[in-house]
Amino acid sequence: MKGDRACGILRVRGSMRYAALSDVHGNLEALEAVLQDASQQGARGFLCLGDFVGYGPDPNACVETLRPQLSAALVGNHDLAALGRLDARRFNLFARVALEWTREQLSATVRAYLERLKPREEFEGVLLVHASPQDPVQEYILDWETADDNFRAAEFSLCLFGHTHVPVRFAHDGHRTYVFLLPANTPVRLEPDFRHLVNVGSVGQPRDGDPRAAYVLWDSEEGTVELRRVPYPVEAVQAKMQRKGLPRPLWERLGEGR
Ligand code: ZN
Repeated sequence: MKGDRACGILRVRGSMRYAALSDVHGNLEALEAVLQDASQQGARGFLCLGDFVGYGPDPNACVETLRPQLSAALVGNHDLAALGRLDARRFNLFARVALEWTREQLSATVRAYLERLKPREEFEGVLLVHASPQDPVQEYILDWETADDNFRAAEFSLCLFGHTHVPVRFAHDGHRTYVFLLPANTPVRLEPDFRHLVNVGSVGQPRDGDPRAAYVLWDSEEGTVELRRVPYPVEAVQAKMQRKGLPRPLWERLGEGR
């Protein structure tokens, strides 16, 4: 038993749990729901794998809310484009419109903070990247072949990543790469003889057909990961995006998780 309940407060003993989250994309309501769930689950630190902004209506508030809680933080491709450091022509029309809007919103403090972040960091022996170990800004790991290339191209035993907005786990035994779905709200033990690539999903714009916010609880002592799915008031965010003039397809997709 790792946890016990006393006086209605959940205490977690002897574990070191981190909430690894990514692709918040300016969705404050989703972020607040995730922060609340993570603290109820006993998370002692937060790791953000990038794309704080882009798409959503609250870029500054998301950065300011997360920043004081972060043990590690990465910059993502949308953050870089909002800073003017990545060519916005790489993005589709609606993403570009949202990026231009975001660029005008960013406060000087938030801009200066994002400017300092890198797309790749090591934290307690774990590799953190926004996109992939071999290309931390751009590459999409959506299939086992790309995952396999990355297991061969970089040295790591566990890598947490984001960027695709699709939670998934890849494992490599030294010869072959295997793909596993991450069941929601169920801890999964990382086989110690394997190497692992774990996509933590997206807080602010999930694309796996489930509109609930996603993040991963990583327990560094137990060697487990748990995909958490957390409901949040999607309609409130959609109404806010509509009011702020963000493109209709961007708020419609939140309701469908795609
Ligand atoms: Zn993203």
